[in-house]
Amino acid sequence: MDAATTVLPFRVDFDLKTGLSGARPTIRRHLSQMKGMYADQEAYEAMLREGDPLVYEFYELGLPETPAHISFGCSIVYPGKVGDEYFMTKGHFHTILDTAEVYYCLTGQGLMLMENPEGDVYAEEFRPGNAVYVPGRFAHRSINTGTETMVTFYAFRSDAGHDYGTIEQKGFRKIAVERGGVPVLADNPRWNE
Ligand code: ZN
Repeated sequence: MDAATTVLPFRVDFDLKTGLSGARPTIRRHLSQMKGMYADQEAYEAMLREGDPLVYEFYELGLPETPAHISFGCSIVYPGKVGDEYFMTKGHFHTILDTAEVYYCLTGQGLMLMENPEGDVYAEEFRPGNAVYVPGRFAHRSINTGTETMVTFYAFRSDAGHDYGTIEQKGFRKIAVERGGVPVLADNPRWNE
């Protein structure tokens, strides 16, 4: 066995409300790092003038990126909106496109928005106790539609990789916005082929 990818059995504390405790955040994204991701650019710029809130972060354990391993950790999306569009992760395809992922909602409420290159769009609800399965080939984005922090546990094949570029250029076909106090999906006015 390759010594560089040998991992011995281990255990880690996983709080059912706050997620992975004791680990360092792998990624923290503030609003300023999400330029161009929200449909309402004016609302985005106005919000940034008031401050630069933390939108989401995730925690991962840094397991070797080989098909033999399963990467897992937690994703935390904070509550908030840009205009009427809810706080969300950038979203990504996997670099190895046909690799799946599973998410389990620990706390909070929201949506997992998914779309494949052919344009099929699905949204599944996150509530504590729900698991959402993201099949291979689907870009996925976590969206917090509630008023509390939303925490999910995730696991995927460790070498899957993250392709953010496609979404940064094109966005998702749909966006999640508040209409009359409830979340709905709307066409993304900034989506382009
Ligand atoms: Zn993923």
